[in-house]
Amino acid sequence: MNSSFSQIQVEIRRLADEKGIVILAHNYQRGEIQDVAHFTGDSLQMAKFAVQTSGSAILVCGVRFMAETAAILNPRRHVYIPEPDAGCPMANMIDENTLRRLRLENPTAVVVCYVNSSAEVKALSDICCTSSNAVRVVASIPKEKPVLFIPDQNLGGFVKRSLNRENMILFPGYCHVHNYLNVKSIKELKESDPDSILLMHPECTQEALKLADHIASTGQMIEFVKKSQAKSFIIVTEREITYPLKKANPDKKFIHPDPPLLCPNMKLTTIQKVLEAVKSPAHRVTVSESVRISAVQALNRMLEV
Ligand code: SF4
Repeated sequence: MNSSFSQIQVEIRRLADEKGIVILAHNYQRGEIQDVAHFTGDSLQMAKFAVQTSGSAILVCGVRFMAETAAILNPRRHVYIPEPDAGCPMANMIDENTLRRLRLENPTAVVVCYVNSSAEVKALSDICCTSSNAVRVVASIPKEKPVLFIPDQNLGGFVKRSLNRENMILFPGYCHVHNYLNVKSIKELKESDPDSILLMHPECTQEALKLADHIASTGQMIEFVKKSQAKSFIIVTEREITYPLKKANPDKKFIHPDPPLLCPNMKLTTIQKVLEAVKSPAHRVTVSESVRISAVQALNRMLEV
């Protein structure tokens, strides 16, 4: 156990280890939650870790679709979330009925579903992707087949431009945290600090992404900074990502846009709620077996790419 843990963190770890609960935290969670977790990462890393874990239960500190993904991949383990209202507005932009209609309108399209989506939507999709593997996933689909990319139009647009693939239909969903950032302020930041490397998440708009030196998921940003010789980075994604970045690179400088990008849904989870969840897990996330069987196929196809 980490010797710098606060009393509440020590208690969380003691209870979790005693009860066989594995704590997973997304890179956008508060720093103290990232520290107390057994594993921290982006959506893809969390999904992979959830499969390998040996605990009897999993506590997902993130938003609901992340807990659903863990439940889909781990039918024999109970999956919990500390805060039941922590959802993702982008995931809620598309539901099963809308996707069923889109499938009827585009009968030959392969449906590629960003993991920021409900279990029911994943179940109706052909293959899932995350922000770190979306280009690879779409590239694995034969060129002549049209692709219906849901729900993030910004990530989909980034993939479409990267692969120069015209036959992609983009659902008009977006992440409000990345979509509405102040592009002018980022431009000014870059101009005032030209030696800094500008790292940007592909959920940002095309207009913003044009400014980026490197476009990456949170997990890819961590790898990039670790390997880079540069000393200063402008980070354009949810501001909590700088917590693991600073921890791993104390000699490097990280700059945020003003105002910083902040996901209120991620911040609904607090260290106190994590303690309550390991004391008496109350908010179990379940997925019906019929949905799970279809959704797991879409997730497994992604993990195989
Ligand atoms: S940052 Fe955006 S995509 Fe991620 S959970 Fe928050 S609202 Fe959803």
